[in-house]
Amino acid sequence: MTAASLFWFRDDLRLADNPGLRAACARGEALLVYILDEGGDRRALGGAARWWLSRSLAALAEQIARRGGELLILRGDPATLLPDLVAKAGVDYVAWNRRYEDGALRLDKALKTQLREAGVTVESFNAALLNEPWEVTTMTGQPMKVFTPYWKAARARGEPATPLPAPAKIRPAGIPARLAGRVRDVAALGLEPTGPDWAGGLREAWSPGEASARKRLSDFLDSGLAGYRDGRDSPARAATSRLSPHLRFGEIGPRQIWHALAAAREAGEAAGSAADAEKFLSELGWREFSYHLLFHNPGLETRSYNPRFAAFPWETDAAALRAWQRGLTGYPIVDAGMRELWQTGWMHNRVRMVVASFLIKHLLTDWREGEAWFWDTLVDADPANNAASWQWVAGSGADAAPYFRIFNPVTQGETHDPDGSYVRRFLPEIAGLPDSRIHAPWTASAKELKAAGITLGETYPRPVIDLAFGRRRALEALASLPDTRGDAAGN
Ligand code: FAD
Repeated sequence: MTAASLFWFRDDLRLADNPGLRAACARGEALLVYILDEGGDRRALGGAARWWLSRSLAALAEQIARRGGELLILRGDPATLLPDLVAKAGVDYVAWNRRYEDGALRLDKALKTQLREAGVTVESFNAALLNEPWEVTTMTGQPMKVFTPYWKAARARGEPATPLPAPAKIRPAGIPARLAGRVRDVAALGLEPTGPDWAGGLREAWSPGEASARKRLSDFLDSGLAGYRDGRDSPARAATSRLSPHLRFGEIGPRQIWHALAAAREAGEAAGSAADAEKFLSELGWREFSYHLLFHNPGLETRSYNPRFAAFPWETDAAALRAWQRGLTGYPIVDAGMRELWQTGWMHNRVRMVVASFLIKHLLTDWREGEAWFWDTLVDADPANNAASWQWVAGSGADAAPYFRIFNPVTQGETHDPDGSYVRRFLPEIAGLPDSRIHAPWTASAKELKAAGITLGETYPRPVIDLAFGRRRALEALASLPDTRGDAAGN
């Protein structure tokens, strides 16, 4: 029997620019496996991400089958399933692309050692990032803590490598007859909700898979990039790429985006200006920076990067948290954002900042509560971006917005959704208010409320908290922390 190769798919559900897959396929017969990880200390996926994964795996399995291969699906703990598969299938070469969360890193390291000790060659590759987290450092070789110098140093490393083509043909290796953890197909993983089926809005909004990711990128370059720099802050407009869930699951990689953008600009096809392109690349830069932070600060999703925040006097108010989660705070921009999230599994970046600030500062709720809710409800729930962004808003992160900067949800709504069309889309019950009241329904007159069919406290909630009170309480909480003077000096 000739030895086979094995490629283990994880957060890289694509065939193109997939260096690990290519390396395994180049050696001859290859086993391609996905393992639904249900073991160890790795964080389980949230509900919306499970839905995405299900669709993405189905699309991947189909693409693999078209090239003559088969996607083997297992469920359980990779720590035991992978070595079992390698031994039973006579595999002498294993490849995967790297991950950066500490639980996953620990698992990969242990597996690498174990397999190598058993005489198997193991190689890992970079498919997810422009630069590995350890490749960008300060002059003295330390991890970076501030975005602007980080991104400058990352850019100075030059263009990322040219993306690899997908393997033209896949030669499948025989799958052993009795395999622990094997499931029939993607559907048998049971990743999609059934009782109740809450995924209707997700199905309407998204089309997971590599082909859709590529189409979304080319549509964005054709018609979305123009005006991105200014338009990206308007939640009512489809002015951003919406590539985040595709990137999260590795249906497309940042090298592909970088080179497609460069090629389109060279060919004069990308309608945007140089400033639009730079801004878009710098958003990918924030993603890179988040991974840099995650890698160098294990546990970023649970531990405040700035240790001073360990003593923060958070409030526990279950009713307020629930109102926030359901989009029933009485502040329309917050509620519209939370309902966009619930309905579509995604939320516009500007609104993510506003709802996060409201929860952490006005409601004085621990940022980890918000991070966990996003983790469960976002289709793009990402171990690095979610943790780093929540800490950024909380003021506890690296290069974070200072805690004392507190977004006012009314003025944020008025600035970024001036005609209220975003709010009206997700809050039909207040759509009849005039523009001048749409971000503050409690200021409407009795006549305006009646004309719009609104009874405050019944058809739409009164504000859960007074903004001035919430702001004052947040600032007092901040002042109670040790050594806050450095923060206040920046105001
Ligand atoms: P575009 O503007 O088109 O940007 C292109 C890509 O750059 C995005 O797809 C994303 O991968 C990356 N990007 C853009 N903005 C950021 C940012 N601020 N930080 C890091 N990467 C960025 N993003 C996630 O991918 N997953 C998350 O779980 C996540 N949680 C967040 C939580 C909070 C509280 C906040 C404030 C932001 C969060 N973000 C998260 C970042 C950002 O909101 C989304 O990446 C962005 O809205 C995705 O939309 P887009 O693809 O249209 O972005």
